[in-house]
Amino acid sequence: MKTFEDLKRILSLDYPDEDINVVIKAFHFASEAHRGQKRNTSEDYIYHSIATAYNLAKMHMDIPSIAAGLLHDVPEDTDFTFEDVKNNFGNDIHYLVKGVTKLGTLKYRGLERYAENLRKMFLYMSKDLRIIIIKLADRLHNMETLEGVRPEKRLRIAQETLEIYAPLANRLGMFRIKTKLEDLAFPYVYPEEYKWVMNDLADRLKSEEKYIEKLRKITQKMLVKNNVEYLQMKSRIKSIYSIYKKLLRKGKDINKLYDLIALRIIVDDIADCYSVLGIIHKRWAPLKGRVKDFIAQPKPNGYQSLHTSVFTDFGKVAEIQIRTRQMDEEAEFGVAAHSRYKEIGILGKRKHPPKWLQHLIDIQKTITDNTEFIKHVKNDLFLNQIFVFTPDGDVVELPERATPLDFAYYIHTDIGNQCIGAKVNSQITSLNTQLKSGDVIEIMTNKSRKHPNPDWLNIVVTSMAKNKIKSQIKK
Ligand code: MN
Repeated sequence: MKTFEDLKRILSLDYPDEDINVVIKAFHFASEAHRGQKRNTSEDYIYHSIATAYNLAKMHMDIPSIAAGLLHDVPEDTDFTFEDVKNNFGNDIHYLVKGVTKLGTLKYRGLERYAENLRKMFLYMSKDLRIIIIKLADRLHNMETLEGVRPEKRLRIAQETLEIYAPLANRLGMFRIKTKLEDLAFPYVYPEEYKWVMNDLADRLKSEEKYIEKLRKITQKMLVKNNVEYLQMKSRIKSIYSIYKKLLRKGKDINKLYDLIALRIIVDDIADCYSVLGIIHKRWAPLKGRVKDFIAQPKPNGYQSLHTSVFTDFGKVAEIQIRTRQMDEEAEFGVAAHSRYKEIGILGKRKHPPKWLQHLIDIQKTITDNTEFIKHVKNDLFLNQIFVFTPDGDVVELPERATPLDFAYYIHTDIGNQCIGAKVNSQITSLNTQLKSGDVIEIMTNKSRKHPNPDWLNIVVTSMAKNKIKSQIKK
């Protein structure tokens, strides 16, 4: 349980005193408002508000978001109103509290309400991403205290977390919160599978931990010998839920998973990243095709890091990740980390939402049937993503199983409609080829061609392409 003292302690590392005063004021206001209220866990309600604000401070969110975290349940659950929040804390914080409250008032009661909830969420996200980040911080604490909730409600919340909130965190690049949400929801949604993974995993992890510890010591010595400084070296255990998903794909044999634990090395700057990689490869040969330079070519969500899998002295494979402190924080906290390193306020009231988000907003405007809408959202939000390139080297993010036609429609509707063929890595390929990460795609067009082939609807997998083809056929 986090106390207000804990929150103040982490704030004092990052924020000036006058900013912290706003948070202190919000704490006193929220404590007064929630006085006497208890949660299902029989804790005083205010500890939920503190935990939410604490999660936000850990992500280095801005002060209005942290204050809004403390206040987020005040108008909904106490005698104080939105007006009171506005009069005491001003427009920005009021706006955030209102956004979070509106997101929360729609609970899952059948498909229709669920779809409405999602539509609202995307609309709010397009206005101010901070609202959804506060919602994620709130949800994280709700998941941590889920034990106190009655069973059917518990299952509903856990499902919603696994199906909507974790994928959203993932799309925002917030991997730490995504992983936590998944691991917390997993035992409630799939209790049998959870037991099964935990059983198989226990012994395996013990030996893996010893192995990675040996590698850590050897790597430390190598770096010292070569005069390369590092800031931190840590072993990262893959999350339980992602192990489960991987087991499903790889035929349920845990001994076939080589990347249960990775060694992560944090260094000062980019030059050091490459030095460390060189030193490691000098001793341990990398597996073919497993060296990935996400520093020179970041993923579209901004993720940067060097990854390599090497054959070690122990006749085994090890995954090693090398990155700077800033890259590490951006990888863990995603968009939230930007408010610290880049211009403050990048998250609030943005003019251009990211492309994937704009797309979800477009879907929610054009698809009025709720069943269809949910199908599309799940498709776009949940399929694993691959990264492919235009001939100019621009990176494009598409769902797994996407085809050259999906790529064409992603680039531009006309390119899709006029498509007569495609080259993948300079080879002419059929339009239903499944693209792989790293492919370079060139679309051949014929300008006089105006209409897509109706059969393409059976080929494309993105709802963007499906919608564009459908609307063009209607014309
Ligand atoms: Mn709450």
